[in-house]
Amino acid sequence: MNRKPIFAANWKMNKGASETEDFVKSFLSKLQGQDFPCEIVIAPPFVSLPKLADMLHNANAVQNAHAIQIAAQNCSQFDNGAYTGETSVLMLREFYVHYVIIGHSERRSIYGESDAIINAKIKKAREANLKPIFCIGETLAEREGGMLETVLRTQLTDGLKDISEKDLLETVIAYEPVWAIGTGVTATSDQAQDAHAFVRSVLKDLYGAETAARIRIQYGGSVKPNNAAELMACPDIDGALIGGASLEPQSFMEIIRNGCGHSA
Ligand code: PEP
Repeated sequence: MNRKPIFAANWKMNKGASETEDFVKSFLSKLQGQDFPCEIVIAPPFVSLPKLADMLHNANAVQNAHAIQIAAQNCSQFDNGAYTGETSVLMLREFYVHYVIIGHSERRSIYGESDAIINAKIKKAREANLKPIFCIGETLAEREGGMLETVLRTQLTDGLKDISEKDLLETVIAYEPVWAIGTGVTATSDQAQDAHAFVRSVLKDLYGAETAARIRIQYGGSVKPNNAAELMACPDIDGALIGGASLEPQSFMEIIRNGCGHSA
């Protein structure tokens, strides 16, 4: 099955507009003339979306430049109204946003997002034709307690409740073991591949084999230039969601280059 890998930078609460501008200038100059067989996505903080949209709208129009898609790091499950501090999917659409990260473990653990809220956000994103990057993953205690498969199955089943096959096909799953996020500890390629194969088997139970085989599953958790190639060589890993190592244009570029099978 031919699944185009997708490499997404999750900047979290880093880089305002001027740092975004510096990054994009540098990254675009490195990207010049390159044609990687993958999708490249950047998810900046909300306040930097206008700057990113502006710069990429011009750059993406230039022939011979690899397109970069824009993602938001979160969205509201509501349309509009009295939801202080929230951002709606339609507001995101104004800034050429294609993807939205939903259910990141930091949203789950710090902001108390439940599987039901995540499910509502996925539905809202699809109503606006945004593509969810739906994050799942277990804590270390859950893994060590033998709960890995139960946790992943529950997150997938509840997060995708009443999501149609058509909408699932526009969704990317990001498997991110919580213990590997921002810790410098990466899952081994065997651990990652086993978890990805399990995720795909749950998708098969929910949507059938043909659909499951078409869904892209990213790995996230301390992906770096020196481990990208080995992780991306696993048959069920279709790209990466990258936090810390995406903050520097050079390391983000090297992850893409190494992960796409090009020499560094
Ligand atoms: C993330 O936050 O999605 C992530 C994978 O972070 P890091 O690459 O820093 O572990």
